[in-house]
Amino acid sequence: MKNLSKLLRTETEAICYPDGRMVGTDGHERAKVHLKRRLKEMGCKPYIGRSLELNYPFKGKSFCNLVGRIPGTNPKLPPVLIGAHYDSVIPFPCADDNAAAVAIALQAGAMIAEKGGFERDVVIALFDAEEPPYFLGEGMGSHRFYEDHVQGKREIHAAIIMDLVGHDISVPGSMLSDVPLIGKVAALVSGLAKMDLSIPTLSSLLFVTGSESHEEMAVALDSVGHPEGLKIVPTLNRYIGDMSDHGIFRRNGVPYFFLSCGRWAHYHTPTDTPDRLNYSKMSHITHYVVKLATEVDLVEMADRKRVERIHDTLELETSYLRQSLGILYNPIMRQLGVKGIRNRKEMNSFVNKLLSLGLC
Ligand SMILES: [Zn+2]
Repeated sequence: MKNLSKLLRTETEAICYPDGRMVGTDGHERAKVHLKRRLKEMGCKPYIGRSLELNYPFKGKSFCNLVGRIPGTNPKLPPVLIGAHYDSVIPFPCADDNAAAVAIALQAGAMIAEKGGFERDVVIALFDAEEPPYFLGEGMGSHRFYEDHVQGKREIHAAIIMDLVGHDISVPGSMLSDVPLIGKVAALVSGLAKMDLSIPTLSSLLFVTGSESHEEMAVALDSVGHPEGLKIVPTLNRYIGDMSDHGIFRRNGVPYFFLSCGRWAHYHTPTDTPDRLNYSKMSHITHYVVKLATEVDLVEMADRKRVERIHDTLELETSYLRQSLGILYNPIMRQLGVKGIRNRKEMNSFVNKLLSLGLC
């Protein structure tokens, strides 16, 4: 695990240039060349044609999705996709957004290539132009990939997308006052209520949306359960919206998981630097992604075009939430004035209150 943390750090730092990776800049070009080489070193074959580069023009600029394929034993089956965007929003390192996820996608791909045994091809997709002004528009990398190379050509079995997966989750200090014992001690520390705190129980949280995209995705998530070092919080995508590259898959009925630690204090700022990331947490996420992909590889997903007629994942969400929050579950509920989560209406109100606190 230590070794993997180290590899992830090297992989992340390799594209955290001081001047960033914004579309059309020199840093973007350097990142593209570097990442293409990394996909090649891993043994990736082109997704289509002869190149790992899937270039496309948009409004007079040239863009490039980097997409490789780790061959499975049955290339006729629709592949599993692991994806993350590699562009940056500002001319700064943007480590958590999204160099960390790119590093995890690459290392997960390397582990899958080395271990073998997948029936389906595993596609490693490093998307261009996720950030504004391209976000959710025609020029967005994942949109172009889906519309130009997936739709009506080669369907994707399921997509696992990551964004903002390098950091610990912190909580507003005010929330501590209700925690037994800790609350009393916390009250003695002046200014604590106003601080953003990293708490061991919560720092390892990882939000996962998409269990609702297909019954088999919920089964796959539950089969993996709580992996070592992480506390999984499955939640509905509609609570947070299509925040990243999973949106195009979701809207087209492709089963998906979207993994994220949410926004944090350094989101879209020059202080989102590689020294602030938790590489141990990232190594747990890497193993988790490989496990999810392994589960998803095995299942058939019939009826996938009707995914919006969703089965309810309330029970899954509540039981994971209780386990993941542990001793903080009751104090957090009290703090938010929530008596219990017995139905979807109560879950909606719980999540809305959490969102208003900035916890997720
Ligand atoms: Zn971003």
